[in-house]
Amino acid sequence: MDLSRLAVHTITNRPWSPRECIEHYADAGVRGITFWRRDFEGVEPDWMGKTARDAGLAVNGLARGGFFTSEEWWDDNRRALDEAVAVGAPQLVLVCGGCHDKTLETARAVIAERLATLLPLALAAGVKLALEPLHPMYAAERSALNTIAQAHALCEALGSPSGLGIAVDVYHTWWDPNLEPGIERAAQLNRLFAVHVCDWITPTTDLLNDRGLMGEGCIPLRTITAACERAGFGGFYEVEIFSNRWWATPQEAYLSEITRAFSACL
Ligand code: ZN
Repeated sequence: MDLSRLAVHTITNRPWSPRECIEHYADAGVRGITFWRRDFEGVEPDWMGKTARDAGLAVNGLARGGFFTSEEWWDDNRRALDEAVAVGAPQLVLVCGGCHDKTLETARAVIAERLATLLPLALAAGVKLALEPLHPMYAAERSALNTIAQAHALCEALGSPSGLGIAVDVYHTWWDPNLEPGIERAAQLNRLFAVHVCDWITPTTDLLNDRGLMGEGCIPLRTITAACERAGFGGFYEVEIFSNRWWATPQEAYLSEITRAFSACL
């Protein structure tokens, strides 16, 4: 894959400040950046967005809002939308919230209802909402939305507005036998807002922070990106890697590995 399609999530280089991410990404030929809300601690998001754009990076998105099953969902999502507008992110990634001590059915109903409440605000602000299905191992604590088919159904239940779509993260969805048709459908409906890439290491030692660099694991990346391309996806492929192992290494060399792996494995 050509580097013109490469965006990186700042969390991937967690040891770096967002300012360092911007400088190094621009130098390495990365073209897009996805900010995390933690980047704005003590820094104004509008300044951060301008700094990125001045360095030649497209601000591709903001991670993340959602968590609809938490008590703070409303205030937190309003803040997230304000931050997305300020940083100039066209979309906000939503991790929808786990079921915790409720049933999955209850959690999914709550997610649908609260998403419907948030949606008009997002549409008015001009920020698209990207539903990210998470691997079912996170259904209790992080997201009761677990497959691309569920994400499609949720978009349709809300009337398929153009500002609501799907973020496909290969780490969460690679195992799904319906992934490819789900991707093709999403792209055809202009609903494929984001694609997050990394790899699944075997054996995995930590189910949150042991993601692999592309090519280190068993995810059929080329098959997945080919499905996206065939269906007409023209956006960035966003490298999003939480890895204690990679965070402990010198980040400049790691970024070189990221650009190499992106070209070689996608
Ligand atoms: Zn993701």
